[in-house]
Amino acid sequence: MRDIDGRAAAKALREEVSAAAERLRGEGVLPTLAVVVPTEDEGTAWYVRSIARTADKVGLRCKVEHLTDPGGDEIAARLRELSADPEVHGVICQTPLPEGVTLAEVGWYIDPFKDVDGANQVSLGRLVQGRRSFVPATAAAVLELLEREGTELSGARAVVVGRSTVVGKPAALLLLAESATVTVCHSRTKELAAVCREADVLVAAAGRARMIGPEFVRPGATVIDVGTNPTPDGGLAGDVDYEAVAPIAGAITPVPGGVGPVTTMLLLRNTVEAAELSQARS
Ligand code: NDP
Repeated sequence: MRDIDGRAAAKALREEVSAAAERLRGEGVLPTLAVVVPTEDEGTAWYVRSIARTADKVGLRCKVEHLTDPGGDEIAARLRELSADPEVHGVICQTPLPEGVTLAEVGWYIDPFKDVDGANQVSLGRLVQGRRSFVPATAAAVLELLEREGTELSGARAVVVGRSTVVGKPAALLLLAESATVTVCHSRTKELAAVCREADVLVAAAGRARMIGPEFVRPGATVIDVGTNPTPDGGLAGDVDYEAVAPIAGAITPVPGGVGPVTTMLLLRNTVEAAELSQARS
């Protein structure tokens, strides 16, 4: 069994992103990511601090905008304003959103050219069509890790557990674009373990701590664990029971240290790309 080292992948990406950011700064452009935070959620606050810290290290500006008790209209208006700001290159909106507001609704107000976490329907539509677009960073991180691992995807059987618009569906579309044969599972899937056992590549994105045990995994399969579930002791558990699955898997991502660090770097790489795009269009 090989551990798929997300921190090492993030380090390699960091060099790439730093170099691109430095080039842009040399041309008078400070790549800037705006993060709208419409929640007091502690997990979200932790994630946003981590994005801001990493951005600082690679030479990007991160502009965090906290909104207190906002309605959908206020969030939409802020996203629209930030999208119109020529000094902002990437715009993202954090979740959880207030009751009754969906990311699909407010994501519409992010300019597709600045939609670095793929929240706008236009970005997702382009992904469905197999055209170039910004892809949700977590889904892109799954593919980035598989690619760096050298996993053969063409013709491989891939099973994704989870069908959310931010993780499961875009991950499935990206795997399909690589010519994998993809099955998407969810809470109504029957005989989930048996379906998962068919996978050469198993992506767990259900948000259920350690639900994927050894009975879900075909010996030698590559297992990508997207889950980040808070544990009572303040730690983080994946969706995969790592201790039990690792001896069977061919390769597996740990949590923490797998998908998470790569997600943050891809968000920043997308921001640099958006800055390059805005430069090319001006
Ligand atoms: P959602 O809650 O939006 O979606 C969860 C999906 O899993 C749903 O499609 C749901 O099915 C399915 N599901 C839930 N329980 C089961 C079950 N018992 N069996 C089969 N399917 C099930 O979560 P997200 O997609 O936003 O996130 C998934 C996980 O990824 C979470 O742990 C989250 O914290 C993590 N995450 C990690 C990131 C990172 O950078 N590492 C970034 C973003 C998320 P149904 O549709 O039927 O309800």
